[in-house]
Amino acid sequence: MTVEVHMFACLNDNYGFLVHDPESGLTATIDTPEVAPINAALKAKGWTLTHIFNTHHHFDHAGGNEALKEQWSCQVVGAANDAARIPGIDVQVSDSERFQFGASTVAVLEVPGHTSGHIAFHFVDDGIAFVGDTLFALGCGRLFEGSPQQMWQSLGKLMALPDETIIYCAHEYTAANAAFALSVEPDNERLQQRAQEITSLRARNTPTVPTSIALEKATNPFLRPDSPDLQKTLGMSGDDLVAVFAETRRRKDSF
Ligand code: ZN
Ligand code: FE
Repeated sequence: MTVEVHMFACLNDNYGFLVHDPESGLTATIDTPEVAPINAALKAKGWTLTHIFNTHHHFDHAGGNEALKEQWSCQVVGAANDAARIPGIDVQVSDSERFQFGASTVAVLEVPGHTSGHIAFHFVDDGIAFVGDTLFALGCGRLFEGSPQQMWQSLGKLMALPDETIIYCAHEYTAANAAFALSVEPDNERLQQRAQEITSLRARNTPTVPTSIALEKATNPFLRPDSPDLQKTLGMSGDDLVAVFAETRRRKDSF
């Protein structure tokens, strides 16, 4: 592992992340949910903010861009596709593009669906990915600006990452997501076990983030439209995967 990740709470249920490359001294914040906790984290670690990597334009992800850029003169990296909505953007990146962050190679994945310009940052050699509001522990982002087909394709890109990839998602939604997941896939034993773990973690106010691709593939209903158990609950046995995904997302919206 070449980079160090420091995670902390922001706003009601967001997570902030600092990624630090010890060799070069570079430090990026993944999104800018809230300025004060980001500055407090930088101070606690003794790190200097050099970059902002934005996953998408929502206020709880890019709302602190301008204040932090002003304070630290850091470089803002965001989606070329969504440059007009990323405050202070300096570097525009696109799908499959790779760039260096100190000793680490970062690959950009365009994952539209939650927003049209949503991207994820995959630190290839470190085996970690920051996925914003696209994939959550046991959940996925709401489809504000994309179709189910588009979101399913985006989730497919994340599912194609190595199973052991550590996934940092931007919100602590896991307990509510677990209740929904159990309601649609009640016979999934790995999910039942995980839901218990989540209950005990949250009782101690411990984060359930990060997760991993392998764990999500085994338990997250949004990655499991091929599950016979899920299909049975939805009354969609043997149906098309996108249709099952769309129905799962629709039910979660009103759960
Ligand atoms: Zn969002
Ligand atoms: Fe968000």
